[in-house]
Amino acid sequence: MPKEGFRSITVSEDVYDRFNSDYLKSKSDLAIRGVRSLSGYISYMLEERMREDEALSLHAPMMKKISVDDGRIVLLDNTINRIAEVVVRDGELHCQLCEEDGCLHVGFAYALPEVSTILSAHSTGEQT
Ligand SMILES: [Zn+2]
Repeated sequence: MPKEGFRSITVSEDVYDRFNSDYLKSKSDLAIRGVRSLSGYISYMLEERMREDEALSLHAPMMKKISVDDGRIVLLDNTINRIAEVVVRDGELHCQLCEEDGCLHVGFAYALPEVSTILSAHSTGEQT
């Protein structure tokens, strides 16, 4: 049983081993930051992740990703209640709703991890 104020969770051996080896690798760095155990390390990682998600949703609370397929990102802009389509044009993102490259939709699209994959695929695939 975990001690007072703690709960236990069960993870697969794969997950455990991965975290454990990462933890052991950076044990001394983590100790400086006050992380002194594997469970402390996992709590720290989760905390960081949650903070990142919160930062992202604070940054763009009214924007939602609908779909990303090759060269085309569809977003829902709740502030204007419109669908915005952002397309890759000459390796750059362009918003078809606003007819520009510097709007909020383009900014949001750049922040999506899938989009950097698309952009790098386009920049290597379209060289002439
Ligand atoms: Zn736009």
